Amino acid sequence: MTDFGPRVEILDGYVASSHPPLYDPVSHAYFDLVPESEPDPTVVVLPNPDSRGRGQRIAIIDTGLMAGHPLVGQRVVRYVDFTSEGPYDNHGHGTAVALVLIKTAPEADLISVKCIDSSGEGSPQALIQALDWVRSEEPESTLVNISAGINRKRWLLFPCDGTCDVCQATQRLCERGNEVIVAAGNLPEETLCPAKLGSKWLISIGGWDARRRYGKGTINLDIPRYRAVPIVPRVEPAHP
Ligand SMILES: [Zn+2]
Repeated sequence: MTDFGPRVEILDGYVASSHPPLYDPVSHAYFDLVPESEPDPTVVVLPNPDSRGRGQRIAIIDTGLMAGHPLVGQRVVRYVDFTSEGPYDNHGHGTAVALVLIKTAPEADLISVKCIDSSGEGSPQALIQALDWVRSEEPESTLVNISAGINRKRWLLFPCDGTCDVCQATQRLCERGNEVIVAAGNLPEETLCPAKLGSKWLISIGGWDARRRYGKGTINLDIPRYRAVPIVPRVEPAHP
């Protein structure tokens, strides 16, 4: 079924959009996207923070992961693709998310669940397939990271109230017992799905700049487990 509504978009925290591409699949060159900083709490919340992620499975629902990346590839234990592009990360966002994540959990096992294509967008159906796949194929102890979201509307008109198909697929995963960490949005005052879900298991992440004046992602205090975390100020590219 063709869906004419909004597409799933990547939510970048501070790692992706204003930086150069992470990886050139043609030249096989890598770019170091991850700033020198402390472990980033916006990406994953480990049940045992001292474990370095050992024994922890983390599903990254995103643009895929680069098997050839020296830091990321060796941590990936499963790949699955719902874009029909193949599992490789030709965009860079998923791998950038993984690079931030492994600063906190360098020994975690990563599951690459690709539902966003090389253009940086994905269909809501692919995201739902990704969520349902994790629910059926991974144990309930697997953490799930979604640094993406969609402005899902009812009948293409009304804002989602947590009952859209994307939110409901996420709800099924949460009810089954998986901890889901999801980015809230790219813009202040805009909460995307599935962050709108507000499930008691879902941790929705937004951020403030150092002066707490700019909400990166949305500050929706109706979400029970919303947490605002400080973000490293974005380094904007130099303009002439
Ligand atoms: Zn929704």
